[in-house]
Amino acid sequence: MEPETIEIKNAREHNLKEVSLSLPRNALICFTGVSGSGKSSLAFDTLYAEGQRRYIESLSSYARQFMGQMQKPDCDLITGLSPSIAIQQKTTGWNPRSTVGTVTAVHDFLRVLYARIGIQHCTGCGRPITAQSVEQIIGSILGNYAGELSRADNAFAGDSSRRDAERAGDQKGADHSKTGAESQRLPLPNGRGSVDSPRAIARGSVKVLILAPVARGQKGEFRDLFDDLIRAGFVRARVDGEVVALTENLSLQKNQRHDIEVVIDRLAIGDAVRARLSEAVQTALRVGKGSLVVAPMEEGESAKRRSQNEEVPRAEQRRMESKDRVAKSAERVYSSKYACTHCGISFEPPSPQMFSFNAPAGMCLTCDGLGELYDFDVNLLVPDESLHFLSSCIAPLKGPPGKWRRHIYEGVAKAIGIDLKTPWKEVPKKARDALLYGTGDRHVTYAWRWSGGVWKHGGTFAGVIAELREKYRKAKAGFVRAYYEKYMRRGPCPDCAGAKLNAQARAVRLPMGAADSGAASNEKIKSSRRSPGPFGTGLNGPNIVELCNMSVAEAHETLNRLELSPVQKIIAEEVLKEVRARLEFLLNVGLHYLALDRGAPTLSGGELQRIRLAGQIGSGLVGVLYVLDEPSIGLHPRDNRKLLESLQKLRDMGNTVIVVEHDEETMRAADHIVDFGPGPGVRGGEVVAAGDYEEIVANPRSLTGQYLSGAREIEVPKARRPVVKRRNAPGVPGAKRRNNGIERAD
Ligand SMILES: [Zn+2]
Ligand SMILES: [Zn+2]
Repeated sequence: MEPETIEIKNAREHNLKEVSLSLPRNALICFTGVSGSGKSSLAFDTLYAEGQRRYIESLSSYARQFMGQMQKPDCDLITGLSPSIAIQQKTTGWNPRSTVGTVTAVHDFLRVLYARIGIQHCTGCGRPITAQSVEQIIGSILGNYAGELSRADNAFAGDSSRRDAERAGDQKGADHSKTGAESQRLPLPNGRGSVDSPRAIARGSVKVLILAPVARGQKGEFRDLFDDLIRAGFVRARVDGEVVALTENLSLQKNQRHDIEVVIDRLAIGDAVRARLSEAVQTALRVGKGSLVVAPMEEGESAKRRSQNEEVPRAEQRRMESKDRVAKSAERVYSSKYACTHCGISFEPPSPQMFSFNAPAGMCLTCDGLGELYDFDVNLLVPDESLHFLSSCIAPLKGPPGKWRRHIYEGVAKAIGIDLKTPWKEVPKKARDALLYGTGDRHVTYAWRWSGGVWKHGGTFAGVIAELREKYRKAKAGFVRAYYEKYMRRGPCPDCAGAKLNAQARAVRLPMGAADSGAASNEKIKSSRRSPGPFGTGLNGPNIVELCNMSVAEAHETLNRLELSPVQKIIAEEVLKEVRARLEFLLNVGLHYLALDRGAPTLSGGELQRIRLAGQIGSGLVGVLYVLDEPSIGLHPRDNRKLLESLQKLRDMGNTVIVVEHDEETMRAADHIVDFGPGPGVRGGEVVAAGDYEEIVANPRSLTGQYLSGAREIEVPKARRPVVKRRNAPGVPGAKRRNNGIERAD
């Protein structure tokens, strides 16, 4: 059974004079008394130190070797002690990069939260991306399309023989396949007599195409690809949005970009088709190298017409097939890999490190996670905008370019369609940016004219600023560097705009307002493009930078609006609890207005102490001994009341809370008060009174009690005096000493 009291026998730490004491567990206890009377010696150097020591003793010897030896406090016996946590008010050695979020550990939990349930969006096009297992994809497809189709399920259920027949019919195309295995594996639709059960159609069943993308925006005729597909037994493909039959003479415009998707299956979705859907999904993922498209079909007449007349000319057939064009709006892309199927960009699966600007996986590589950059400033580069590029409107280029540079710039000007002799102020922004920041991957042809003719060569263009950076980097002499520095300025990083995180990390958003985070709906993306939501895509919630820009109150409210699937709920539950507990604590102690990314060094002492409290007691631990050092200092009375409520809540959760405090309100709120004295130093070290508030007030020995009862007046000290530093407590590495600033004078 759990002990009901903490028993201390003959504590002798510092000036304590063989103090023996019984403290109630699971209570809010106030240690009070004049400064130096021994209250901190008992609270921190005896109870907290012993709680820590026992905790460390309980660890493995391997772990212990990193923690150092802890001295046993000078005391005969302590029983009933729990693991202890101390919350001190002043700490030196602040990391200047600390923020409200990092001190409270909210930021650490948010990084885990984003890694677990954050939705990656493509950095190229903004579409949401998730890697899903085959089972998840099937579940998602059924979930997305079954709603509209449940009415058709009955039509299906009584129809299995018909379906088998259809599948046999579908198998016809497989005759082409080379291996028996393939013909077994691929139930290929050929459109004839497929699943359009009249009843299902009448009830509005939506059939879908399962497509495997094999080419995206690629130029070419794809003869080989089509040959391979035909040999593998496929009979249809969707080429540039039109479903066509795969034939040997299918010819595409060689110089145009094409999208090609293989039709893996056509089916109407309900629970009854699960097995067939599973087969189709697996095949599609294999053929589509990890991604597939589900495209609902508009009910066209073409299938029936086709079955009536087999020998339609190919052109006519294509025209009819195009009627089968899917309702693009409800198309969804699924991926078993972490990649955008539209842009062909692959991503790393999010990890907590990805959301730290100190970690290589997360930091912006342009500014090394600093958020700012010392770089050439466009506003300083062009002092006179009426000049043109070749007369060197860009001042640090120092005069017109030489012949070589000039032919480079002229090549670029030709590629972007401008005349370099246009006054700078008339050059369009896009062209200016191209000259300054380069033309990216674009291929530029340069023409070098000489007496023997024209030599054409090609390459990319990195921009004038890149050239200047290189010159600055190579400059050794101080005056040369100083020359360039006239045109440079410290400013926000152009890539991350001060966010410090790289583009991939910034493109991970919390699930909010997206009905199905597992797949991209074109319709949603299109509509969100028309009216971007507060966080850009309109699909999901804030990224971690945006969330940390919010105040505590806004962040708390935002996290309450998460829309989580049952699975996400489970994986996010614990970490969300931690984040919410801390945010709620901050709300409770009146810090709702602080932004999570507010720098800790800019906070007042009272704010700092409370955010540290939030970090340590927001976690909702149970069965812990908390020791707090004068938490009322610097608090507005209203906030002090809220703080006391939080401490009482902590107690009610099953913890023991010891507060070293002079504050009357704290004593009134406490279940038990211990008054140390009678004087400071060698005149103290005794317990003069212990009991609840009434008992202390009624005790004539207690100085505190006399003040509380009004029998004695408190003299207001003229100046607060510093207290001499005490010797260090047995050290846990990293544990900070208390009382190393100014203690309240009595
Ligand atoms: Zn994309
Ligand atoms: Zn940056």
